[in-house]
Amino acid sequence: MSITRRDFVSGVAMGGTALSLSPLEAAAKGLLPSHALGPDYYPPALTGIRGSTDAAFAAAHALAREGKRFAAPKQSPESDYDLVVVGGGISGLSAAYFFRRQHGPESRILILENHDDFGGHARRNEFTVDGRAMIGYGGSQTLDTPSAYSPEASGLLKALRFNLDGFYEYFDRDFFSSRGMKPGIYFDEPTFGRRALVDNMLEGDGLSEEAVLAAVRAMPLSEADQNAFLTLFATEDDLLARQSLAEKEALLRNISYLDFLKQYADMTDGVCAVLQDTFLPMLGVGWEAASAWEALEYEFPGTRGLGFEAKQVREEPYIHHFPDGNASVARALVRELIPGAIPGSTMEDLVLAKANYLALDSEKNPVRLRLNSTAVNVTHDERGERVGVTYVNNGNRYLARGRHVVLACYNNIIPYLCPEIPRAQADALRYATKIPFVLGSFAIRNWQAFADSGYRMMYSPGDVMFKRLSLDFPVSMGGYEYSQSPDQPTVITAWYSPTARGLDSRTQYRAGRAKMLDMSYMDFEQDIVGHLNGMLDPYGFDAERDLAAITLNRWAHGYAYEFEGVGLPAQYNRFNGPHIAGRAQMGRISIANSDSEAYAYVDGAIDAAYRAVSEQLAAT
Ligand SMILES: Cc1cc2nc3c(=O)[nH]c(=O)nc-3n(C[C@H](O)[C@H](O)[C@H](O)COP(=O)(O)OP(=O)(O)OC[C@H]3O[C@@H](n4cnc5c(N)ncnc54)[C@H](O)[C@@H]3O)c2cc1C
Repeated sequence: MSITRRDFVSGVAMGGTALSLSPLEAAAKGLLPSHALGPDYYPPALTGIRGSTDAAFAAAHALAREGKRFAAPKQSPESDYDLVVVGGGISGLSAAYFFRRQHGPESRILILENHDDFGGHARRNEFTVDGRAMIGYGGSQTLDTPSAYSPEASGLLKALRFNLDGFYEYFDRDFFSSRGMKPGIYFDEPTFGRRALVDNMLEGDGLSEEAVLAAVRAMPLSEADQNAFLTLFATEDDLLARQSLAEKEALLRNISYLDFLKQYADMTDGVCAVLQDTFLPMLGVGWEAASAWEALEYEFPGTRGLGFEAKQVREEPYIHHFPDGNASVARALVRELIPGAIPGSTMEDLVLAKANYLALDSEKNPVRLRLNSTAVNVTHDERGERVGVTYVNNGNRYLARGRHVVLACYNNIIPYLCPEIPRAQADALRYATKIPFVLGSFAIRNWQAFADSGYRMMYSPGDVMFKRLSLDFPVSMGGYEYSQSPDQPTVITAWYSPTARGLDSRTQYRAGRAKMLDMSYMDFEQDIVGHLNGMLDPYGFDAERDLAAITLNRWAHGYAYEFEGVGLPAQYNRFNGPHIAGRAQMGRISIANSDSEAYAYVDGAIDAAYRAVSEQLAAT
């Protein structure tokens, strides 16, 4: 390759100088990011708008929304890495883990993460209220049915020394029932004309017939709506009696659950308004845009008599929950990969261990995790022997080179990052879109009002943002004790899904994302305060006094898309869909992350990492 004069002046010569500089000197000259991680850098304790902050997505939005192109800087003062990983979520961290295990412990690995914290959706929140330290989770919540994990995913958890049986002791399953606390439904006065808080028959361990009757009669609905609700809830009739199973499936896949109820169960608008958002935290859209087929899978009212076999659900309680949710998986991986980053060795001592953020990106360690760093260009060199990853840190461009690259970010951004990607593959990666959510963690000074109301979790069908609010899971482990008494502080978890009713699910996700990013912290706070006061004021709750802190974990790109919606091709699922073509290996670049598996779970993220690393190491 000929070297032009300009290259020589700005590239090779400077590169030579840079290589002889210490990392600190290189940072001072702007050749390496200086990180600015001071001794007080501790993101889990930050409150307000967290998750995807404006700073975290600035470079990615410049690339994807504004069309800005980031050429690679001419020189890279760092020596090459064996692997560069884009994305420091569970998938990216697992990719580093698998690569090191297969390629050797001396492997030089750089993980680039655009957020100010690692873990991606697996995010830890911390609060100190009235002298009590509390841990919450900001996204990925629980290891769901870990007995069904693949050998690679369960092997990884074992290697991290997770003793999953321990949760049978740590998760106090009787905590709320022994205090007479259950799920409720809150009807707000502005929407329903009258305030009511009633038992929720759609969740929890089920209610007696009398309790269902009492709850429905207490709902602020007309008598006709109440009667319709009771009929629907009780029905075991086959509402599609004259159709074959194949005809039923075709119909259910192509009609929304609410339209199904209206057309085949004569359901009233009043009842539909109550049911509308019951599954928002799972689907990210209301039942007007989710299919009756999905409702059938979850045995929603009106689907029980349709004649399909009940879904084979593996009997495993939903208890595999750390106080910081699946942030513990991310933290355990970081502890394994980076000496000195997180003390301890067991899953129990992980809970209270404080991460040392200054250790994450140290030249002393073969694995480095660089926060606040957004990859913006990923390209093979001319010989195809290395891949240059240009990234932006604090507004400046830098270059890292790897013999292998794993993109553990998310599918939609990849076509912008990789100009080399074939068009058909780029289209396949664009097919899906992630589901936006805000997971709120609210610290309250006491939960007396919850205890007095008799409800531990509330679904709110009315005009409020956070349709679901619940007291945190009662997990005590590793020296961390769940709030034992209602006069002690605790954490509320709250779910907000920004929807755009009337559109199909994928269009809603895109519109909802834009809507969410336009909202200020004050928009959220006002809604939260009004919601909590309206719901719990009769039990003495006063948000001014009792609400101590709000952390809004904003995930503009949340759950991986799993082909949920109305009228989708029936053959699309985790094992068959556009994501398979989308994740094709491109030479020294492989694609991980839960999108690439169309599976929005920890094990999807880990399985993707294993596949991507295996592809790369098989190729060399
Ligand atoms: C609110 C919420 C609750 C959930 N609850 C559960 C649960 O209970 N159980 C469960 O199993 N799963 C749950 N999930 C699913 C969750 O997505 C997975 O568990 C898992 O955390 C996904 O890991 P990942 O690494 O694939 O993706 P992510 O966690 O999204 O990590 C990818 C990382 O790459 C970063 N990135 C993207 N582009 C770039 C770039 N250009 N440069 C640098 N970095 C980049 C992203 O910002 C992100 O931090 C939940 C998800 C959400 C949003």
